[in-house]
Amino acid sequence: MSDTIPPEAAKVRTVAPGVLEIFLPLPSKPSIINVFLIDCGSGEWALVDTGVALADSRAAFARALASQGIEAKAVTTLLGTHHHPDHFGASADFRADGGERVHLHPLEVERMEYSMTAATSDMIVHGRRHGMPIPDDVRGAPKPAEIWAGTFQPTREIDHLLEDGEVLELGRRRLQVVWTPGHTPGHCCFLDLDDRTLFVGDHLLPKITPHVGVFATGPKNPLGDFIASQEKVAALDAALVCPAHGPVYSAHHHRAHQIIAHHEHRLREMLDVIHTEPATAFETAAQVFDWVFKDPDARMQKGAAFMETLAHLELLHARGDAEREDRDGVIYFRASA
Ligand SMILES: [Zn+2]
Repeated sequence: MSDTIPPEAAKVRTVAPGVLEIFLPLPSKPSIINVFLIDCGSGEWALVDTGVALADSRAAFARALASQGIEAKAVTTLLGTHHHPDHFGASADFRADGGERVHLHPLEVERMEYSMTAATSDMIVHGRRHGMPIPDDVRGAPKPAEIWAGTFQPTREIDHLLEDGEVLELGRRRLQVVWTPGHTPGHCCFLDLDDRTLFVGDHLLPKITPHVGVFATGPKNPLGDFIASQEKVAALDAALVCPAHGPVYSAHHHRAHQIIAHHEHRLREMLDVIHTEPATAFETAAQVFDWVFKDPDARMQKGAAFMETLAHLELLHARGDAEREDRDGVIYFRASA
């Protein structure tokens, strides 16, 4: 019987009036994603993010609904903060369960389509261009779609393409879309205009900073976008922040400025590296993130550190603090004189 499941076992709790936080398991770190159910009145609920498409996550979600006496088909609306598997990976299941309306930013639709078809060769060209030593025989390298495997079963039918600043009228709720590019190009936050609850996805996490890296297909200066998005969110009037990872919190201005300060510190570290002599993004990453590069098992983390370093170097370049030099197809950065 559904009503015999205690909310605790189902890992769900009320964080604001009519807002439920559900903790869903992830196969790798961070090990939990928080998705949020918003009561829109008239028996309809909106869901912010889906969790991954794996069976234990789907079962945890079903248990959470059952513990609250909510039928799956009462969850009519999906608000996707961005396309990553832990956020949008189970969106095909959302539809299969009777979900009616799927919202996502158009740039996320584009990234999603790309990630499902991305060729390894794009990443190889991108890596080599920025100094990554990639052997000629890379047949073992997995494609993004293979890395995400069963976690990512997205719906390709998007009913509503999100626009910055628009107000979504969902029953009795008015949610403003706040476009926050950086972690991904079409990442969006949602602000409840009446309760001032802010759903931030991965943009403004309380304990960790999200990955911001330059991918083969761009955009070119995602860290510049990310910092501008932090300023944008810091200026909002919000009472409670609901992040995708870590506990809900308030004082979003403070956290946004902490995150900006963290990146400013990293920017100075990178500038120190390229001050003495020009370096590629790969060489810079190996110095700034030396502990990652000393670990032979940290292949994925190395790739992430490389892309994150490149994001910092491109921002330094955009600010005029670093110059870019093309040496036989390999890009070197050096501090501006
Ligand atoms: Zn993400």
